[in-house]
Amino acid sequence: MALKLFNTLTRSLQEFAPSAADANKIGMYCCGPTVYDYAHIGNWRTFVFADLVRRTLEFFGHEVRHVMNITDVEDKIIKRVQEQKVSLREFTGRFEAAFFADLKTLNCLPPHLTPRATEHIPEIIALIEKLIARGVAYRAGDSSVYFSIAKYRGCGCTYGQLQKLNFDELRVGERVAADEYDKEAVADFALWKARVPADGAVFWPSPWGEGRPGWHIECSAMSMKALGESFDLHLGGEDLKFPHHEDEIAQSEGATGKPFVKHWLHAAHLLVEGKKMSKSLGNYFTLRDLLANGFTGREVRFLLLTAHYRETFNFTIEGLHGAKTALARIDECVGKLRELAGGTAAVPNRELVEQFKAALEDDLNISAAWASVFEWVRKVNRALAENSMTHAEAASHLAAWEKVDSVLGVSAAAETEASAELKALLMERQSARQSKDFKRSDAIRDELKAKGWIIEDSPKGQRLKKI
Ligand SMILES: [Zn+2]
Repeated sequence: MALKLFNTLTRSLQEFAPSAADANKIGMYCCGPTVYDYAHIGNWRTFVFADLVRRTLEFFGHEVRHVMNITDVEDKIIKRVQEQKVSLREFTGRFEAAFFADLKTLNCLPPHLTPRATEHIPEIIALIEKLIARGVAYRAGDSSVYFSIAKYRGCGCTYGQLQKLNFDELRVGERVAADEYDKEAVADFALWKARVPADGAVFWPSPWGEGRPGWHIECSAMSMKALGESFDLHLGGEDLKFPHHEDEIAQSEGATGKPFVKHWLHAAHLLVEGKKMSKSLGNYFTLRDLLANGFTGREVRFLLLTAHYRETFNFTIEGLHGAKTALARIDECVGKLRELAGGTAAVPNRELVEQFKAALEDDLNISAAWASVFEWVRKVNRALAENSMTHAEAASHLAAWEKVDSVLGVSAAAETEASAELKALLMERQSARQSKDFKRSDAIRDELKAKGWIIEDSPKGQRLKKI
């Protein structure tokens, strides 16, 4: 078996095969937040999904370069900057910091690179110049620059790769200036928006006059700068499929003439209490709202990870209470294993790891993955209750859980549990002592201490304890 994922581009389940030139290295781009407010739980579904994809790829032995942009100039941002009479950076900086704090609360691994749109204006301008030179973009009467869908299609390129579009209603040259627009609006979209009074102090010089970039071009410019003209994996919420991602493909392929992205993955919508989330219905939650109501980041993460990414997910408060109970079961089981294992290093128990892996291989079948975890909890609890488990077996089960949790990221004790590397050092010290190599044994003790761990004697042998 190999990892299979549903590729929106081919509308089929495909074996995930990184491009040959990159061997085992994977470029992964996920559209990041537009920092005009606190991210809501629907946004978090996408980011937790991206974290699951990254951790899964790493579990399968790939090296991932994870890039997530920060959209810090856009229609909604400018509107609020004007309303609140603050500088662009002051406004976006606040929500950007909140976003990264929330990302940490949800135990999402930080992306390797988080480029800001406002720091890539030269790259954006260069990309627009390329599109103009290739004849697929034009400057309009108001000095804004638009992407020409008719010209792009005229070159034999396909607009509508991620979603089938109705071109009968397309009138040549019809334009849309807004960053977000309707599914039906197959129209030329803005790459560069000429400065208008409502923009206030938010503008940059360009060959076409003062203005600012459109939202879609930001992602083409930053993803290609970070990952090259062609890369493996692009993720986002399904609401971004059109126009945002379709426009990213058109801009990138229109400029380079090369295929932009090999695999596109989209996470489905999230409902809250069975309805579309809205402030007027009272079912609109940011992560902070949920924390204020006594829930934890790991409970929210657990719940977001219970549904398959391509299924619409109904997020409920009852579900969060269920997450609390489920995590308590895991915590109790892992806690007992840890006690019995007593810091012994071991090879992970194969059964759990293999079943979990097989579930992920099947388009990230998270329900099957959790089923394997809870079946394992049941078996381990039974063996513990019967006192039929040895220290070595406990250590092996614990190592299996750690491997599985490297993907799930829901362990409570992640910070108090020594890594496999540290446990290996402890074992090396034990053998050094047995062979009376006290110099080496002391050196390892000092190394462990420098890393924040002390060696503790317990009835079951030596173990590591966080200082
Ligand atoms: Zn994007």
